[in-house]
Amino acid sequence: MENRYWSEALRGIQPYVPGEQPATPGLVKLNTNENPFPPSPAALEAIRQAANADLRLYPDPDSRRLKDAFARINGIAPECVFAGNSSDEVLAHAFLGLLRHARPILFPDISYSFYPVYCRLYGIACETVPLDGDFRIRVSDYARPNGGVVLANPNAPTGRALGLDDVRALLQANRDSVVLIDEAYVDFGAQSAIALIGEFPNLLVTQTLSKSRSLAGLRVGFAAGQPGLVQALEAVKGSFNSYPLDRLAIAGGTAALLDQEHFERTRRQVMDNREWLAAELARLGFAVLPSLANFLFVRHPAHGGGALLRALRERKILVRHFNAPRIEQYLRITVGTREQCVQLVDALRDLLAIEQQPSC
Ligand SMILES: *Cc1c(COP(=O)(O)O)cnc(C)c1O
Repeated sequence: MENRYWSEALRGIQPYVPGEQPATPGLVKLNTNENPFPPSPAALEAIRQAANADLRLYPDPDSRRLKDAFARINGIAPECVFAGNSSDEVLAHAFLGLLRHARPILFPDISYSFYPVYCRLYGIACETVPLDGDFRIRVSDYARPNGGVVLANPNAPTGRALGLDDVRALLQANRDSVVLIDEAYVDFGAQSAIALIGEFPNLLVTQTLSKSRSLAGLRVGFAAGQPGLVQALEAVKGSFNSYPLDRLAIAGGTAALLDQEHFERTRRQVMDNREWLAAELARLGFAVLPSLANFLFVRHPAHGGGALLRALRERKILVRHFNAPRIEQYLRITVGTREQCVQLVDALRDLLAIEQQPSC
């Protein structure tokens, strides 16, 4: 892939591969952890209102309204909030601005596959720490010299979450380095570590509007931490792109944050559907990891993840499979509407029944 005109920085880079966004309509899309419910109507209306002649003007470089709304909802000061064009971008800024040190950073062997990509891109040394046999993070494994610790909580693609006691223990054991908690899925039942930022100057928490606010298409992400950490992100932003959030994103994102009623209702529905789907998959013989995210990580004892993915695709259902050590037997399935969950369960029941017929 490399070309002689490319910068040294891209040597050996293997970009992150996002889940497929199919052009074919009518597919049941359970492969990229999008929210199956539409965004807040107030957010859509705010975006429509913002689509006016003012688009000739640059947006507010500080995204002040958006940061204020995030600060208010989380009960923190606006100086403790950073906003960026998606949490992927915020994570990238944190890797460059806070995690590039002589010592390697630590993250789990099974986690969000963007972390090693940022390490490659920015030349950050990293070490992966194995999850235990049940795919749990043992925080005591991170009590060793490091240049930083990065955990997704709930973790992806497992869906397992740490409680705040574990996060606190992790922070106490790592006072000399930044602990980054990626809370892309926190609103589906886990506890946010934002409650701990006052206590720990080394804690940075990232969140996104992509999952629980149904706005993956708008690209809005946040970080919360003490001003010392937030200013590092501001320094990277100011050296990279002064206007990461456009006028529509600031308007829509702010309105989405302020519509708590829509947020509560849709996230409850996702959680209810998750519990329903987990029970149904267990009845079909799947081992289902306990999830506090909007997806389930499942394994069938008799069928490989790749084969199931292909069979489901033929039935117009998309799920995600990772061809990686320890998890190649697994599928990651996004929790959809109840109707989509029923379609998935029906397809799997059908498929497993066919497979179980004796062949002659
Ligand atoms: C989806 C996801 C993100 C990225 O969210 P965006 O704001 O859409 O970039 C970050 N971390 C994890 C673990 C995710 O699953």
